[in-house]
Amino acid sequence: MNPYETIDSYLQTHLTENLAELTRLVAQPSVGAQNLGMEKCAALVADLLARRGFHVEIMPTGGAPVVFGERKGRNNAKTLLFYNHYDVQPAEPLELWETPPFEPALRNGKLYGRGVSDDKSHITARLYAIDALLDSAGELPCNVKFIIEGEEETGSLHLPQFITANREKLSADACIWEFGGVDHREIPMQYLGLRGICYVQLSVETAAIDVHSGQGGSIFPNAAWRLVWALNSLKGPDEKIRIPGWYEDILPPTRRDRELFDQQPDAAPEYLKMYGVKNFLKGLTGGTDLYLAEVFEPTCTICGLTSGYQGAGSKTVLPAKASAKVDFRIVQGQTIEKCLALLRQHLDTEGFSDIQIEFLGGGPAAKTDPDDPFIQLVVRTAAEVFESEMELIPMVGGSGPNYPFVHELKLPVATAGLGYPDTRAHAPNENIRLDLYLKHARHMARVLTEFAR
Ligand SMILES: [Zn+2]
Repeated sequence: MNPYETIDSYLQTHLTENLAELTRLVAQPSVGAQNLGMEKCAALVADLLARRGFHVEIMPTGGAPVVFGERKGRNNAKTLLFYNHYDVQPAEPLELWETPPFEPALRNGKLYGRGVSDDKSHITARLYAIDALLDSAGELPCNVKFIIEGEEETGSLHLPQFITANREKLSADACIWEFGGVDHREIPMQYLGLRGICYVQLSVETAAIDVHSGQGGSIFPNAAWRLVWALNSLKGPDEKIRIPGWYEDILPPTRRDRELFDQQPDAAPEYLKMYGVKNFLKGLTGGTDLYLAEVFEPTCTICGLTSGYQGAGSKTVLPAKASAKVDFRIVQGQTIEKCLALLRQHLDTEGFSDIQIEFLGGGPAAKTDPDDPFIQLVVRTAAEVFESEMELIPMVGGSGPNYPFVHELKLPVATAGLGYPDTRAHAPNENIRLDLYLKHARHMARVLTEFAR
């Protein structure tokens, strides 16, 4: 007999009520970048937790507040911490949405709306699992804590300090991360690590005002050129970052990391097709080497450049200002402090003391051991629900604030969720599949139950 029969049947029959909560949450805009609806959304999330008997606090951070919730369980010696976020990306461009982003709409087994996948459904699906457990036993199997922040989409600027300042309150034995899901083969994925990021704006101002290029072109410095030359010194066509010391502290991938990628199907054909690129950098052709390069190597990416005139026709102007957004993905061993210091030193040495560096956010890389017993538990319980073995990915190329969870709170961090390749997070028509929503709730009920043993 399935020991989760009562749980599963609860989850099967109460979906409409639970989705009503998710719908209400998605209908409340919470766009961090535009400071839209943040307080209201935090209050709504706090209410969802309080209704389940959680002790809830809305805590200030210097930015958007953190919602913290805690409820004791039968096994008082074990605590599971959920990390989620209630902020969402801007909904623009609005004209590409089939239905308005903050009016959640159900079509063909999918729920559409900004933030429905990233990350509001992950909050409510986990609460749904908690509902089912409370309904069947009247109590939770173990202690449960939630930390739900409001700055994930804008770089989690205040989260590391918040965690350091509230280490006791957040103490736990393991953590479930905000996202997860299945890949294009419907196989649930376990992402064990996140690459770090150091995001900066480089800017230069060479004059008080723009100048007629006929007048200034041969006698005044040009901000656009200054910036281009400075950028040119950061990386060469061989893709090597030219900042001295940049690679010094890097920890290479382990044999186990390599082994895990060896088990993955070659991503090359899909990447080439999906993005319409002709070939990869550095002579890469695919297989494990492509995966390792994708997630275990540092990058220097120009994300945007601004200077002078770019409108219709011509304008003969010598720009006084220029700026660029540059994202450096950093890997295990690298720190933000050292990267910023090396960058400053390099620009100064190369004669670019006039280039200002503004740090816009980021954090170091961190990963969890694939053989940690908690990871094994999450993998084992997923297999039953998803009817296929969860696959382990040692590291992903993207970034998130997992470092303080791994290194400050000292927790194994597992990913689990209801994402899928067409979930369109950050894009128009963001959506979730209800079948995966239900599976994630069933998975979480199992994780909580078996973790308590
Ligand atoms: Zn996001």
